[in-house]
Amino acid sequence: MYHRVTRDEKVPGITPETFEKHLQLLNKYYQVVDIDTALTTGKLETKAKIVLTFDDGYYDFYTEAWPLLKKYNFPASIYITTDFIDGDMWMWPDKVREILSKSSLDSITLANIGELALSAERYEDNWHRISDYCLPMLESERGGYIDDLAQLFGVELPKKPPQRFSGLTWTQLQEMQEDGLNIGSHTLSHPILTRISQEHLEQELAQSKQVIEEKLATTVKGICYPNGMQADVSENVINTAKKCQYHYGLIAYSQEKSDSVFEISRIAASGDIAALAFSLLDRKIKNNIREYSEQ
Ligand SMILES: [Zn+2]
Repeated sequence: MYHRVTRDEKVPGITPETFEKHLQLLNKYYQVVDIDTALTTGKLETKAKIVLTFDDGYYDFYTEAWPLLKKYNFPASIYITTDFIDGDMWMWPDKVREILSKSSLDSITLANIGELALSAERYEDNWHRISDYCLPMLESERGGYIDDLAQLFGVELPKKPPQRFSGLTWTQLQEMQEDGLNIGSHTLSHPILTRISQEHLEQELAQSKQVIEEKLATTVKGICYPNGMQADVSENVINTAKKCQYHYGLIAYSQEKSDSVFEISRIAASGDIAALAFSLLDRKIKNNIREYSEQ
């Protein structure tokens, strides 16, 4: 599971150099297959087979990741948030980043969060403190809270995200699809699906699928659940995904047993090459190494 490949130090992601090292490791020891092949030939947990997935649909997938994937001739799937592709929305964690990097205040005290020293060195830590507070909020309340934060910090947020935080375009997606990219849904607006009404849930799942199918003349099979942790994917979310005619669903963590194609485990490939190599090891070997290193 990847999100962004970028040299921009102000955004989370891995560099193109690290990403290429990942691809070299996979090229040497694994067989990278497309998700449909993996699902039809059976076991995803077969060690030799790897599927590469990307979430959200940031522009750098086109500029950084895709050229490298082409270089190694690796298939990949991307799960896009369609309002983000339409250019109508920000991913809310990026708004927090923008507020922190644009504010000219030296420090601020926020209710429920506490005092923040607004230095460059504290940027990541401050981002985590604010984001951790925002994440569990109701979808309907978070937007207003972040707008209020922008005011408190004296930052004006543009309606559309700046380049650094912007999404792919439909034209880029179409070009990459013609070149073999598989495209799935990551909903319309990236809400946590267990915290919205049934009507809103059906809209997020059905309309995002429909928009992609219309814009790209394709059939969307996969849904990648926003945030994708245990609390974000209920039985009702899965049943609604089935009802909306998805064929499979991706979660954002690795679980020992994953019997359902609507809860496909993933490994976050966010670290350096050693971190990736370790996370791809067999669970038993991992436990042995952990025990050994704790001795
Ligand atoms: Zn996402």
